[in-house]
Amino acid sequence: MIPPIASRFVAGESPATALEHVRSLNDREIKAILNLLGEHYDTRAPAASDAAEYRALIDDIGTSDLDACISVKPSQIGLDLGDDVFREFLEEIVESAVEQEVFVWIDMEDYTTTDVTLDAYEDLAREHGDLVGVCVQANLRRTREDLERLAPLPGKVRLVKGAYNEPSAVAYTDKATVNQVYKELIEYAFEHFDDGVAIGSHDPEMIEHATALHDEHGTDFEVQMLMGVREEAQEELAADYEMWQYVPYGSRWKSYFYRRVMERKENLFFALRAIVGR
Ligand code: FAD
Repeated sequence: MIPPIASRFVAGESPATALEHVRSLNDREIKAILNLLGEHYDTRAPAASDAAEYRALIDDIGTSDLDACISVKPSQIGLDLGDDVFREFLEEIVESAVEQEVFVWIDMEDYTTTDVTLDAYEDLAREHGDLVGVCVQANLRRTREDLERLAPLPGKVRLVKGAYNEPSAVAYTDKATVNQVYKELIEYAFEHFDDGVAIGSHDPEMIEHATALHDEHGTDFEVQMLMGVREEAQEELAADYEMWQYVPYGSRWKSYFYRRVMERKENLFFALRAIVGR
């Protein structure tokens, strides 16, 4: 059972509770990106088990009337065991997704995983471009070149600032530079991506930048935010734009909840306020 303090950020432990949350989002015109919590498995069994759960979840989404997709972490489906294990499970998941016409996002982890993640994505995008997308991170110095590689491919790209503390040899480490680069990458994406752009950010300045570019270029775009973060803004944006909420669920919720609290201490206050109902 997830304690009320964490349920602001995590949609329960089971697929059933997560899907219930999706229904309540869909009722408010918000679509859902489901993520089963789990990462960095060093044995095959949990990777296989999570891949199987994703396939079952895809069947549940595909046979329902819900507006939802999934997002998978490479190290959750075997990347730490080998590129081949990651690709094997990812291909199985995408096979189910193609059968059910459910979209699959690939999350991006630290910089040591970028090449293998983009290579796997590129192969899948060439075959099933309308159903796959990948995340890229503005804090990495390489990302502009990666976008140039991804632009001619079918498939969607989610632009984020980047969640990992990376070494300065490969990454911009000060916030102002990351923000500036993020803006430039958003501009590049609006100019060069035909299949749409996803902005994975809670930052009002970045979202305004994207909406202005949308008005200028007409490029399709969507905003993506995490469950429990700026939920009022999510509802407001949903009135005018495609709004997706990233919805984590599952039994491994503790470290995820801890990260949300550590990145912004007010999150603990909001969670506590939700409990006392004020
Ligand atoms: P920040 O730079 O954290 O904050 C900028 C401004 O946004 C703040 O000043 C404030 O005005 C507003 N804001 C931010 N947080 C809050 C809050 N809690 N409450 C109120 N206002 C707030 N990273 C990866 O490395 N790989 C991934 O695959 C990945 N996927 C993601 C998917 C989604 C849908 C989202 C939303 C993020 C994802 N991230 C991923 C995380 C991302 O890289 C950032 O670390 C994270 O989003 C924080 O950056 P930000 O752009 O939201 O704004």
